[in-house]
Amino acid sequence: MKTALVTGITGQDGAYLSQLLLGKGYKVFGVIRRSSHRGVEDHRLRWLGIADKVTLLDGDLADLSSLVRIVKEVRPDEVYNLAAQSFVASSWRQPILTANITAVGVTNILEAIRAEQPEARFYQASSSEMYGLIQEPMQSESTPFYPRSPYAVAKLYGHWITVNYRESFGMHASSGILFNHESPLRGVEFVTRKVTDGVARIKLGLAGELRLGNVDAKRDWGHARDYVKAMWLMLQQDKPDDYVVATGRTTTVRDMCRIAFDHAGLDMERHLVIDPAFYRPAEVDVLLGNPAKAEQKLGWRPETTLEQMIIEMVDADLERLRRTTPG
Ligand code: NDP
Ligand code: GDP
Repeated sequence: MKTALVTGITGQDGAYLSQLLLGKGYKVFGVIRRSSHRGVEDHRLRWLGIADKVTLLDGDLADLSSLVRIVKEVRPDEVYNLAAQSFVASSWRQPILTANITAVGVTNILEAIRAEQPEARFYQASSSEMYGLIQEPMQSESTPFYPRSPYAVAKLYGHWITVNYRESFGMHASSGILFNHESPLRGVEFVTRKVTDGVARIKLGLAGELRLGNVDAKRDWGHARDYVKAMWLMLQQDKPDDYVVATGRTTTVRDMCRIAFDHAGLDMERHLVIDPAFYRPAEVDVLLGNPAKAEQKLGWRPETTLEQMIIEMVDADLERLRRTTPG
């Protein structure tokens, strides 16, 4: 039986990855931040019905000593570093925290592995946001980076320190450059989930409008359930490497939004309000990934279309709101 350690296990990807690993017979451990409201932070694991199948250990990516203790205790075969301050918009409001967790935190976990379990295989959650002001119309592993937010700058550090530990110490460390991926478990501050939750609220008469920022931005959106398979595949390769994981299709926020309104039988023009409060100091106008390397070397392919995913998310939000709304 293999043992996996997942940082960020309470997040969207941590939940889906744990489900995948448990299905493959892994023993799964996760790092969980201590909080005063125990009982709600594992809601995604509970949603997938796996909260009692994983072991959660107290730790924080900012606290090297906690990571050393955890790696020593767990002795993982594979470590997936998914923990981060992951919301781009927040990174302008909390740039130093973002750097401490999303950038330096990667070195902390790498150091803990190097000290206690150097043969463990390591996955770093890198991001298409690193391409930012895109230097090529379709971004691949060889496209130069141009980060446009404190989040993206921090992710770039995490990416390169992973490459550096691979080259410096021969660690089996891989970096997945994942384009946006969503699901019913996506945080409600991200645009897809904000849209599907907002549409469900309008449908149920709980809200009248949906306020968004730049609806001309384009993203290459896939499903988290598909993307965590690519993470696992990377760590099954003989050699560590970097891979773009994307669908190869880009869509505007407006057109993504229309899919959700249409599915609910609502007229988008009547409810969508453009609110400059949601504009960002610097925008990433368009992202479009080229997943050819992941397809060829990992045999990975996205299985869910944007339409299927948005419909799944709207239906999940309708169900969730019907269950939790009194009356
Ligand atoms: P989420 O925001 O859903 O999850 C982030 C996780 O990190 C949560 O479990 C959170 O814990 C944990 N975390 C945050 N700060 C710390 C800390 N100081 N110590 C320990 N844990 C911490 O992100 P996703 O699941 O969507 O993404 C997973 C990773 O992939 C992230 O690194 C993200 O930046 C990256 N990524 C995501 C993409 C996407 O489209 N989803 C695209 C490309 C990269 P808590 O529950 O306590 O908040
Ligand atoms: P990101 O690509 O990691 O920043 O993912 P998000 O889902 O947060 O944002 C995707 C795109 O949607 C960005 O270009 C945002 O500017 C745009 N967007 C437009 N309106 C909103 C909004 O109200 N909330 C969020 N989160 N993004 C918005």
